[in-house]
Amino acid sequence: MRPLAQCHVLLTAVLASAAAVVSTSVPAQDRFAERAAMIETIKLHARSAPSAVEGQGIDPAVLKTMGKVPRHFFVPEEQRGAAYRDRPLPIGYGQTISQPFIVALMTDLINVGPGDVVLEIGTGSGYQAAVLSPLAAKVYSIEIIPELGERAAARLAELRFDNVEVKVDDGYYGWPVHAPFDGIVVTAAASHIPPPLVEQLAKGARMVVPVGGPFATQFLMLVEKRRDGSITSRQLLPVSFVPLREGRAR
Ligand code: SAH
Repeated sequence: MRPLAQCHVLLTAVLASAAAVVSTSVPAQDRFAERAAMIETIKLHARSAPSAVEGQGIDPAVLKTMGKVPRHFFVPEEQRGAAYRDRPLPIGYGQTISQPFIVALMTDLINVGPGDVVLEIGTGSGYQAAVLSPLAAKVYSIEIIPELGERAAARLAELRFDNVEVKVDDGYYGWPVHAPFDGIVVTAAASHIPPPLVEQLAKGARMVVPVGGPFATQFLMLVEKRRDGSITSRQLLPVSFVPLREGRAR
């Protein structure tokens, strides 16, 4: 067992409001046209996945946010040209940033609203956390690879997503001190739905989690904790995520 719990690193992004900053002080407004094209691709993609996308399609608030967040700052320099294509990209350490459609879908499915406290497992580049940031009151994100977690926290701070807090730890166990969460997004594939995360879900809240082995078909699952505390889960669509690693004995 690795003593990961003893070396928690709390990486807090400080400074001004994320929503305000994304549209003002960040030199992000270059590549605006590419982001607009990315949004159109996401909408098209959503139409081809009616079993996963609810109602009229991806929530316009989610699309608007993704139209502002500078995805190219979250990928390595050599990948920047491809940052707005609808596909996953390598971010180092064998990990990947999800394709924009999947980020949009997962964000949409947890119905995040102002005032909500959201948990992400698998910070990676920090992009998914950045997309959640302007939509929620607070985003907690856990990354198991220290270098990725530290880098993402620094990037989020630099881009002034100040309501995002990152820690390096095994996300399987969630972040109990900040629970319950109004939404949980797991961005690495688990062999089963982690019970500690179900436990930390607020009543009426949702979790999206890819479930399945690395060499087997994985499915994006939508887990909901009803107001009466009962749990429902639904399989949405086949996906391909990097595995959720085991950092602590389970
Ligand atoms: N959400 C990320 C992409 C995630 S890729 C983004 O927007 O860029 C999946 C990430 O999950 C990887 O960075 C991987 O290191 C991390 N991960 C894997 N197992 C984990 C665990 N048990 N706890 C926390 N993070 C984990």
